[in-house]
Amino acid sequence: MTTFRRGFKSWCESTALQYRAILGLEPTGPLPAAKLAAHLTVRVLDVEKVPGLSRVALTQLTRRDPDGWSALMVTHRGMNVVVMNTTHSPGRQSSSLAHECSHVILNHKPAQALRSEGGIFISSYDRQQEDEADWLAGTLLLPRVALLRIGYEGIDHARHASEYGVSEEMLRMRLDRTGVSLQLRRRAG
Ligand SMILES: [Zn+2]
Repeated sequence: MTTFRRGFKSWCESTALQYRAILGLEPTGPLPAAKLAAHLTVRVLDVEKVPGLSRVALTQLTRRDPDGWSALMVTHRGMNVVVMNTTHSPGRQSSSLAHECSHVILNHKPAQALRSEGGIFISSYDRQQEDEADWLAGTLLLPRVALLRIGYEGIDHARHASEYGVSEEMLRMRLDRTGVSLQLRRRAG
């Protein structure tokens, strides 16, 4: 388990609210990952629409190993492009996109960039950067204020997950890891 630098988690919370304000969204409401990507000028491309990707590569990515990857950040002519694994559920895709956007927000420099044909670079990050991007992505989609709102409304995992465009698993994880679950139980008890 990674230890985050002091203040990182509260910085994530204020960043989540800041982007909602910039995009004219409610502080406790959903933040669609696609909107965030557009704001960050991150292009989103479904894997089957990647130009020049061979049938063999596409089959490998979508049929043989659909669970081996979620999204890939590539840079092409200075532009960030996220290639999405469209075999995943919408909730999972939204987390993956928020994760890639988080690398951009955190200004992570890839530990390694693999150059492939056509001047496309595939970014790869180190463990610490991955953990930071995961935490920020979860916070962007479900900041504490949103989790508390959900709690006060009465948690309906399926409905709230769909409202916020996340998987039910992500909703449960955020409720637990932020301590909001515990806070709500104490209030109820
Ligand atoms: Zn990552």
